Amino acid sequence: TLILGIESSCDETGVAIYDSENGLLANTLYSQIDLHRQYGGVVPELASRDHLRKIIPLIDEALINAKKTLNEIDAIAFTAGPGLNGALLIGATVANSIAFANKIPLIPVHHLEGHILSPILADKNLAPPFVALLVSGGHSQIIAVEKIGSYHILGDTLDDASGEAFDKTAKMLGLPYPGGRYIAELARHGKESYPLPRPMLNSGNLTMSFSGLKTAVLTLIQNLEKQQISIEGQVLADIAKSIEEAITDVLVKKSMMAIKETGIKQLVVCGGVSANLTLRNKLNDYAKRHDYRIVYPPLDLCTDNGAMIALAGYYRFKDRQSGYSFSVNPRWDLSSLQIQN
Ligand code: ATP
Ligand code: MG
Ligand code: FE
Repeated sequence: TLILGIESSCDETGVAIYDSENGLLANTLYSQIDLHRQYGGVVPELASRDHLRKIIPLIDEALINAKKTLNEIDAIAFTAGPGLNGALLIGATVANSIAFANKIPLIPVHHLEGHILSPILADKNLAPPFVALLVSGGHSQIIAVEKIGSYHILGDTLDDASGEAFDKTAKMLGLPYPGGRYIAELARHGKESYPLPRPMLNSGNLTMSFSGLKTAVLTLIQNLEKQQISIEGQVLADIAKSIEEAITDVLVKKSMMAIKETGIKQLVVCGGVSANLTLRNKLNDYAKRHDYRIVYPPLDLCTDNGAMIALAGYYRFKDRQSGYSFSVNPRWDLSSLQIQN
């Protein structure tokens, strides 16, 4: 089975071709990061226009790379939500038009199901049940996955997502958007830690909260400036390390709790923050000591991409609706998903 996957929920246009026999045949991606950087965040209207500009060339490129033609494609999967309305509509409209014109089945995909299933691209044998730690720019959730298509949210953040916490504190430090990987790079040279809060760490449940970190980092910066200490060099690296430690400590502790509580000895970590190596090292340490399995997406497929949408589309293929009516849902709830077979 050959699935063409199209992702356009935020600021990445991604197109991929997934073959159920041979895995990923093509994966093309255009990131709008440079476009949005000057605004310090994603500007929705600019995002839609840029998706429109790039999406057809990326589809052509993917087909060429995979050495396939449209009439060999069994289904077209597109991200139907959650995400930015205008951005979603570009992907949905293009997917629908191509599907309709070529009489190819159309499959709406939930963006977060794409993230959750993405580790299958690294390990084909991965199968539920597993606990998923979904850590991205917009979400921080712990999810019990009994089977593909059934997602039970065990824990969520009360406010900012963990990726958002990285990005917002990075911005305070004058780092480019999105700041997660810049914090991570600087943190490698960090030596000392500044005390930063780990909110909800000992709450006894799987609820998280990251918004307090912004205030704490702001206060830290102000205190250092009062002491005429400039935020650069080793000081900057130490702050970055402190931020990374604070965020990853919470994520590790909550994942461990989820493993313990559910008795499920398999953890899947996904979303942009799962590219963070400090997080991976801490989780791997625990996994070894407590004898459970842990699976990540390939490093380049942690952030948004078409590959995970094509993959999730494959699992939804048999469950597809017929016809070409479609809609997008910018606030689609993951736990409302169901699969028939
Ligand atoms: P959502 O999937 O919730 O809609 P999104 O699609 O915008 O959000 P992703 O593309 O999955 O999110 O991830 C982007 C996030 O990952 C950003 O917040 C970014 O800073 C973060 N990120 C990427 N690499 C790293 C890293 N090495 N360390 C920490 N954070 C990282
Ligand atoms: Mg993005
Ligand atoms: Fe995402």
